[in-house]
Amino acid sequence: MVLTRMNRIVDFDEELAYVAVQPGVTQRQLSEFLASRGSRLQFGVTGSSPDSSIVGNVLERGDAEGVNGDRFENVCALEVVLSTGETIRTGFSRFPGALTKSLHRWGVGPWLDGIFTQSNFGVVTQLTLWLAPRPAGARTFSFAVDSDESLSRLIDALRRLRLSRVLDGGLVFANDVRAIAEQRQFPFDECDSGQALPSEVLSRLRHEHGVLRWNGGGVIYAADDAISEALWSHVQAELSSCTEILESATGDAIVEAAAAGTPVETHLRMAYWRLRKPIPDSPLHLDRDGCGLIWCCPVVPFVGAHVVAAAAIVREVCTDAGFETNIGLHLVAPRSIAMTVAIPFDRSVESESKRAAEASALMHKRFAEAGYIPYRVPTSSMDVMHRASDDSLPILRRLKSALDPANVLSPGRYE
Ligand SMILES: Cc1cc2nc3c(=O)[nH]c(=O)nc-3n(C[C@H](O)[C@H](O)[C@H](O)COP(=O)(O)OP(=O)(O)OC[C@H]3O[C@@H](n4cnc5c(N)ncnc54)[C@H](O)[C@@H]3O)c2cc1C
Repeated sequence: MVLTRMNRIVDFDEELAYVAVQPGVTQRQLSEFLASRGSRLQFGVTGSSPDSSIVGNVLERGDAEGVNGDRFENVCALEVVLSTGETIRTGFSRFPGALTKSLHRWGVGPWLDGIFTQSNFGVVTQLTLWLAPRPAGARTFSFAVDSDESLSRLIDALRRLRLSRVLDGGLVFANDVRAIAEQRQFPFDECDSGQALPSEVLSRLRHEHGVLRWNGGGVIYAADDAISEALWSHVQAELSSCTEILESATGDAIVEAAAAGTPVETHLRMAYWRLRKPIPDSPLHLDRDGCGLIWCCPVVPFVGAHVVAAAAIVREVCTDAGFETNIGLHLVAPRSIAMTVAIPFDRSVESESKRAAEASALMHKRFAEAGYIPYRVPTSSMDVMHRASDDSLPILRRLKSALDPANVLSPGRYE
């Protein structure tokens, strides 16, 4: 089903900070819309393409960088069309004339929004996305560590800052391979692409690209510079003993860039890491260019030791399969971390595609056995759903046959 042409921005309110969008509205379109209105509002952007659908990402319960990082936490008033022809409007939007339909998530009575995410029960034709005012006192900061021990201490310190709400915006980490893969391709001329990058080559690339083993950063959002300065003092006090690098930047240009929430193509470049041809000019198009990319996204407790343990699973599986360990960490919640493991491969190389699929299957299995269940899965790994030990699977099947009796919408998705 192609919903690209349903691309209207249906409603917008600068004062109450929300926008209602159809599924064809992209990150770029919303960003340009806000700029054209001279709006002082922003939304968190994902690392995906500027031309990816906001609704598609919300329905996958995706994570954005910056403000309102948990996208689904910041939506309401879904309009859902069922295959039976019936329409559901969630929250208060089901009541004609409700003045709070775009302002309140729950409405009255059973709350239905969640069942239309990561499911195949209906087609969402509209939703309201909450925006955030651009802060006057934004400040970016970055940190980097060079060992798992330091990473563990840093994660625990960041948890304290998140739980105490000193840090409210999302934080992201990229390990060395992720950071390097956003800047260049696999060195095919000097290494065997059937093997993971040798450690001495990786070490040299780290040096050349100015990255350590783990690199991260975030934005302090504050109403003015004095508050931003005070929050930064807290961050420094907590982090300075556990990072090798701790830097911060502020000033008009930084504030503007950090606060704008403009989608960029930088992260897409890592999908070209193992492509046997050069990265084309913008706009990048992963499918057109033959990029293969499989994600494994376990959720781990916001505890340093767990992050290190989950990363060790990735390292073992990827190295055995002849791939680099490519990890991102999304710290959008105070108690858990979404780990995003990427396995980029060249779809035109059959043996590499096969190895990538096998590595993904094994990694999902190893994560589940260790208690790190993924928060979203590729179609090839839906069997993770079958690990549930309660009665949810048969009940979900009953819901499916009630809402989509002919089973025409995405059969097999999250089943
Ligand atoms: C390099 C790279 C970086 C990325 N970074 C991030 C990131 O930082 N954060 C993040 O969350 N994701 C990220 N992604 C993942 C991905 O791009 C997102 O999940 C994306 O938002 C999905 O958008 P899409 O337009 O491809 O949606 P689709 O693939 O079209 O939709 C996703 C799923 O939702 C369902 N769906 C879509 N629209 C509807 C609808 N209207 N009604 C009902 N069901 C629907 C479909 O069944 C589909 O399976 C990244 C991907 C890449 C390649």
